[in-house]
Amino acid sequence: MKTKSSSSDYSFIIAAGGHGTRFSERELKQFMSLNGQPLWIHSVKAAHMAGIDDIILVVPKECINQEYTCDIKIKLVAGGSSRPESVMNGLMASSKRFALIHDAARPLISVDLIARLIANTDDEHGCIPVMPVSDALKHITGPQVKSVPRDNLYATQTPQSFNREKLIAALRNNMQVKDEAEAWLSADCELNYVTGERENMKITYPEDLAFAEKLSHERRIIRTGIGYDIHRLIPERKLILGGVLIPDSNLGLLGHSDADVLTHAVMDAILGACGLDDIGTIFPATDERFKGADSLDLLREVMKLVNSSGYRVEYVDSYVKAQVPRLNKYRDEIKASLSKFFAFNLKFKSGENLDDCGAGLCMEAEAAATVSKQKV
Ligand code: MG
Repeated sequence: MKTKSSSSDYSFIIAAGGHGTRFSERELKQFMSLNGQPLWIHSVKAAHMAGIDDIILVVPKECINQEYTCDIKIKLVAGGSSRPESVMNGLMASSKRFALIHDAARPLISVDLIARLIANTDDEHGCIPVMPVSDALKHITGPQVKSVPRDNLYATQTPQSFNREKLIAALRNNMQVKDEAEAWLSADCELNYVTGERENMKITYPEDLAFAEKLSHERRIIRTGIGYDIHRLIPERKLILGGVLIPDSNLGLLGHSDADVLTHAVMDAILGACGLDDIGTIFPATDERFKGADSLDLLREVMKLVNSSGYRVEYVDSYVKAQVPRLNKYRDEIKASLSKFFAFNLKFKSGENLDDCGAGLCMEAEAAATVSKQKV
């Protein structure tokens, strides 16, 4: 039966179990960093963005107990002594009808390529990304040099997409393969292909990593957002700023939650930068759940939304405008409180005895956030 597939039918297996020494004698390349994150994480993100929820990372056996910090749920699997063995271990740990097998050394994989592979895979047909060979080819044995016509020759990329059970059967019969497509073809299964992507390059040598960094910087989206908030200052309320209780204030801010004016402005700046709804929409004042809420708990929720939108908060700058009380001595503590979430800066402005803020009736806060995301 030729069942068309969708991303929810897929396991995504990242082969990061290799010990290749072409890259470095000392360090395994799958753990080297690209844009501050290990190579394998980039593929996890692309799979997640493509809507795949069964993501398996196959790592060298001796690295299985290392810490793998990742916001996205992954299954860790110990690799075998060869690539096909590692892939097989990944396949046995996966659960979906189809599997995409990807090489961690190709971190610049795009969501679009994953979608095109899925669209061209069914139970009968696997699908691989291929690129035409552009260099002229020579076959060299010792002193003998022969030209090889490159017509109809293609280089194969990953991910490669297959019905999982059929791939397991094909690999069982042929574990001496360079890639999964080779096992698939040797089992007489049919194979579709789509055009791969130049950016989906394989990082083999150290200079490849520098080139990939350059490429990925060009693919970064950077956005800024602004946030503003104001709360009335009244007696007999706690004054909380950036999650810090200001102990010696007989005035506090009035609001449905803890009325942390600074954290509110910061959240709106971040959400705005990510193109998400504002806090008034996400945590409505009419909702009893948020009555007296700790704004740092709300910020934790916001950070989850930011993560799942694929953005990363790079920096937040802010100021609080307050005539009373004098806040400068709390600056370091407040700054440290929000710096646990992201790089954060804070200033204070007095109200210069002007307007409502200057009259000590309210406090205001403004924030600007910069976020970034990798285009996938
Ligand atoms: Mg507010």
